[in-house]
Amino acid sequence: MISTLTDPSADIREEIAQRSGTGELTNKIWFHKTAAAVIDADRCIRCGACIAACPSQSLTGAEDGLPTLVKMCTGCSRCWDFCPLAGMRTERLWKLAEGDAFELDGIGPVSAVYSARSLDRPAGAQDGGIVTTMLERLLADGAIDGVLVTRRRGSFESEPYVARSPEELRESAGSIYDQSLPLTLVDPSILGTGGKIAVVGTPCQINGLHALREYGVTHRDNAAANVTLTIALFCTRSFDGRKLASMLLDRGVPLARVGTVAVQDAALQCLAGDGEALFEAPVKEFRDAALRGCDECADFTGRLADISVGSLGTAEGFTTVVVRTEAGADAWSRVTGAVEASEDCDLDAVRDLERRSRRGAARKLNREFDPDSPLWISYAEHLLSYSDTDRAPSTPPGFRSHHYTVSC
Ligand SMILES: Cc1cc2nc3c(=O)[nH]c(=O)nc-3n(C[C@H](O)[C@H](O)[C@H](O)COP(=O)(O)OP(=O)(O)OC[C@H]3O[C@@H](n4cnc5c(N)ncnc54)[C@H](O)[C@@H]3O)c2cc1C
Ligand code: SF4
Ligand code: SF4
Repeated sequence: MISTLTDPSADIREEIAQRSGTGELTNKIWFHKTAAAVIDADRCIRCGACIAACPSQSLTGAEDGLPTLVKMCTGCSRCWDFCPLAGMRTERLWKLAEGDAFELDGIGPVSAVYSARSLDRPAGAQDGGIVTTMLERLLADGAIDGVLVTRRRGSFESEPYVARSPEELRESAGSIYDQSLPLTLVDPSILGTGGKIAVVGTPCQINGLHALREYGVTHRDNAAANVTLTIALFCTRSFDGRKLASMLLDRGVPLARVGTVAVQDAALQCLAGDGEALFEAPVKEFRDAALRGCDECADFTGRLADISVGSLGTAEGFTTVVVRTEAGADAWSRVTGAVEASEDCDLDAVRDLERRSRRGAARKLNREFDPDSPLWISYAEHLLSYSDTDRAPSTPPGFRSHHYTVSC
């Protein structure tokens, strides 16, 4: 079946397999195929799951901010299997995790919902500063050793970072509309093993982390097993920070003064550090800077997290907090006395956006959206679904998998 379609990832290995008659080699999924189907098809959402999943640590983020091969690829398929835009059927992952309670039309497990703001709100916090305050408390109590966060690098770009003190946490407060392969840091040499790490991330990052915990490598230390708490940020889309900055610059926004970028009520706003409004325009005008892969994402709230947070459903300056699990309830219990909280939250608005986000994703996915289908999707299935679409696999540039050409 696959041979009737053009496969832009076909390379020297396929040629060797064909000439030698060892056809089984074509069933291996090398990084070259993940690159063709996702990264160079402009579908990558920069979660970094592929990099964390690679057992030979052969991948890293390149200058263009995208996963790239820097060592020999063994064709083990794991970059493919853990990629939510490729081999991982995320809706199946949810169903396996949630069991009998799973409802596709819901927002996942909910044990309590609050509207809250910190009494000592960190400068730069996006909404109520709840994420930073909660994590500060957990660090102070010794309940965690560190937190994988994403912090600003310049006004619009970001970098993943492991904060190990309250000061470092405060410096990383606020939302950054950029994805910088944060799961790359889920590595034993960075997170260590046997510790207690919290992770803050967008839903796709939390889904990838969940998969790494459930199906992580067994023959070497799995740093994902250290993660004892996950906090998901509600998310409808993220951007390529560099492209967003460039589009704002074209509109005369003084980038150096931008402290906060927020997407609220379908508007993109830039505020200075002192809160002065610098710019506001409909967010749809910035579609060209958005990550195209986000169109295919059906998870607004991060249903596999221990706690999910966002601005939707609550008053300005507050954070909506959805507590889902026992670990989440324990984390929330530690903010007593440090926050002002009520149960006055519009969870229906959150449910409604989750449903709309799911419907939108189902339209953009070229495969069937089906929580009862197998967790893993093969490259051949992908090629059948995506060939001849505007998201079809595309030949990767030489540098993306240079090592194939020189080493294979
Ligand atoms: C890309 C993106 C899109 C979002 N879209 C929505 C939306 O559509 N609707 C909605 O209600 N809420 C959305 N949010 C969530 C919202 O902006 C706030 O992050 C949330 O309400 C928590 O606010 P806070 O003041 O409690 O958190 P803070 O105390 O300000 O802490 C925020 C934490 O998030 C981490 N963080 C920031 N950016 C990223 C990132 N890109 N990846 C991983 N971690 C990050 C920071 O390191 C920090 O630890 C989005 C957030 C992001 C990053
Ligand atoms: S979407 Fe995530 S897992 Fe897939 S290629 Fe991009 S960074 Fe890797
Ligand atoms: S919309 Fe989905 S894929 Fe895009 S950054 Fe948010 S959680 Fe990730």
